[in-house]
Parts: sequence; C-alpha cells; structure tokens
Amino acid sequence: PSSVEVYLQKHEVTATGGDVPAPFMTFEDTGFPPEILREIHVAGFTSPTPIQAQTWPIALQNRDIVAIAKTGSGKTLGYLIPAFVHLKRRRNNPQNGPTVLVLAPTRELATQIQDEALKFGRASRVSCTCLYGGAPKVHQLKELERGADIVVATPGRLNDILEMKRIDFRQVSLLVLDEADRMLDMGFEPQIRKIVNEIPPQRQTLMYTATWPKEVRKIAGDLLRNPVQVNIGNVD
Ligand code: ADP
Ligand code: MG
Repeated sequence: PSSVEVYLQKHEVTATGGDVPAPFMTFEDTGFPPEILREIHVAGFTSPTPIQAQTWPIALQNRDIVAIAKTGSGKTLGYLIPAFVHLKRRRNNPQNGPTVLVLAPTRELATQIQDEALKFGRASRVSCTCLYGGAPKVHQLKELERGADIVVATPGRLNDILEMKRIDFRQVSLLVLDEADRMLDMGFEPQIRKIVNEIPPQRQTLMYTATWPKEVRKIAGDLLRNPVQVNIGNVD
C-alpha cells in the first residue's frame, strides 16, 4: 500500500463522495500562504491532525463537506484555515457584511472559535466578531457595524439580529455549522433553517458533527450540495 493508504488506515480516515483528493500529510503539502504557516509554526504544531489532513484539500476545492469526528480532533482550524484562504480569494469589504458565517451551539464555544480565528488569522488581518445570547445586544451590534470578515454566532441570537435587519448576508459565501448535532439537540433547527434561507445559495457549506443520527443526516441532506463525507475513527 502507498504511504497515503497507510496514513488513512492508521488514522481511521474515510472519505466518500466524488473524487477525493489525497490528504495533506504535512503543513508544507498544504500550500497555505506563508503568513498562515507562520502562525501554525508559532503555535508549535508539528503536523495536521487527521481531520485537517483530509478536509483541507477538499475545502480548498470549494466543495461541501460533512465531517464526523470526536471532539479534540482539531476541527476548528479544520475550517478556519480554509476560511482564511477563502477570504483571501474573495477580498470582500467587511463593511458590506461578513463573508464567512460560523454557527455554533453555545456562547462558550463561539468565543473560543473567535479567539482561535483572531490568533491564527492575525497575520492575515482577519476580522471576526461574535454574537450570542445571554448578553445585551447593544455591544454586539456595535461590533458588527464596524465590519467583520467572519461572524461566529449562536443560532438564537443571530436569528434575532437577522429579524432586526441588522446583518447583511449578501456577501456570505462560506457557511460553517460546528457541532451540528449539539445545535439540533438544543432545539436550534428552526433558527438554523431561517438563517440558511437568507444566505445566497451559491455558497460553500461545511458541517461538523460528533454523531450521525438521522436528524443530522436530514439537515445535512437539505443544506449541503454533493458533500464529501469524511469520517475519523469509529462514530455512531
Ligand atoms: P475539536 O473542535 O475537534 O474538538 P479543537 O479544534 O478545539 O478540536 O482542537 C483541539 C486542540 O487541538 C486545540 O487546543 C487546538 O489548538 C489544537 N490543535 C489544532 N490543530 C492542531 C495540530 N495540527 N497540531 C496540534 N494541536 C492542534
Ligand atoms: Mg470544536
């Protein structure tokens, strides 16, 4: 077997749906811009995690992905770094609204994602703001008005702000659903669907989930277009 086959088998990586590119087994393989590789080097990371290795080349082809993997597998940078590359390609003005929208189930998770985006996107001059419930809207709206390339949000608060017409989705071309199974468990499906209905259909969608029950399969089927399904390890 080839070194790629050995790698995939060793890390229990499977990818199905169309022609799947080979994983990036090293950071050099990624061809990421130097300012991004520098931040990865500063963080002291030695190699991509299996989910990063397999999803990065697929995401860079602008394809939809549903990735099923346990927590702690490096999913955040799995989508954030392709998001930075996406932003660099689009060169949109964040004053006109976000280009990347990340949905996450909780305030804690959303702020962790924002922290990671600001840390690893610093040299790329990525701007990122966070919207979540349980805190007054006024400060969040003010930050949003300043403009952000990436908006990380919980579905409830984002849906409120959308109904107030205080966010413009016209530039959104990359949508990420992080911890999709947990968002559904929390009852966010109606808000997620309302939000996604307002996003231009010509978008790339990346969905991450730790489990793969029928509710998650259903929403993946509705929101993703010809996705590549990537599984890491044995998941139910
Ligand atoms: P998940 O979302 O899959 O639960 P995270 O994205 O939160 O996982 O990542 C878990 C931890 O691994 C974080 O501290 C993150 O900074 C770190 N990490 C991410 N990618 C790598 C890598 N390639 N090498 C080492 N550590 C990494
Ligand atoms: Mg995560």
